[in-house]
Amino acid sequence: MITLDVQITNRCNYECEYCYSLSNHKEMGEETYSKVIEIAKLLNINAIEFCGGEPLLHSKFEKFTKIAKDFNLILRTNGILLNRFNSLISKYYSWVCISLDGLENENDIMKKSRTIISSKDKFEIPISNIKVLKKLNPNLKVLIGSLVSKLNYKNILKLGNYLVENKIPIDVWKLYLFRPKFARAKLNEEKFILSETEFDKLKFDKLKTLFQKGSKNGGECLIVAYDGNILLGNKIISNIYEPHDKILKSVSKFIAKVSENKTITYI
Ligand code: SF4
Repeated sequence: MITLDVQITNRCNYECEYCYSLSNHKEMGEETYSKVIEIAKLLNINAIEFCGGEPLLHSKFEKFTKIAKDFNLILRTNGILLNRFNSLISKYYSWVCISLDGLENENDIMKKSRTIISSKDKFEIPISNIKVLKKLNPNLKVLIGSLVSKLNYKNILKLGNYLVENKIPIDVWKLYLFRPKFARAKLNEEKFILSETEFDKLKFDKLKTLFQKGSKNGGECLIVAYDGNILLGNKIISNIYEPHDKILKSVSKFIAKVSENKTITYI
């Protein structure tokens, strides 16, 4: 199954020091977006994942969602603005992936905000938004993704305990090892880097049904950036404005590899 990640904006209301996105406050225009949809149909893409930055800050988020309604839609968000769009999201999306990096204190240490948002709000608002979304649509899948680094790994399993004990209605809790790939993550490598050995030690039997770990190599994604560049991982391989045959050639290996995998996993 093939997912296309669409970075509709790299603007964010947070400025996490481990962020992989270069924030220059740009957003994808409507013309570029319609090209993205055209190419997604051409490539037989199954799911579109809106990512950023914070996709909910895009001025045309609602319009873009409705245009892509025939795909499985996935939203990747920090969760704090979800209440602006709860009914839209519960109606059109298959998955919502929310990042939370620990209980209140650890989450606050990991996640820096541009404006003053209390540590309590940073944690409790996404949690209460999850409850609202699940009430509106019990079939909507919710994933909590936690980035694990030197700063939060010792207490990360407390978040898992909290999710279970408080019956927070999520479907998956996924841990990702910090990778200093690019942007602020690369600049702040020393602050966050954690060995795979430490990461591998994290096991939590009580959470078997919720608990997943991100792939060792960080996975490889096909991404369209806000400016129309098409990237595989962090490498630009084409642009949405190039002729169709050129785009098809650039992505063909990736598409063939993913198509072989018959498992239906969008996340
Ligand atoms: S919330 Fe996500 S996109 Fe925003 S700064 Fe943090 S890591 Fe980057």
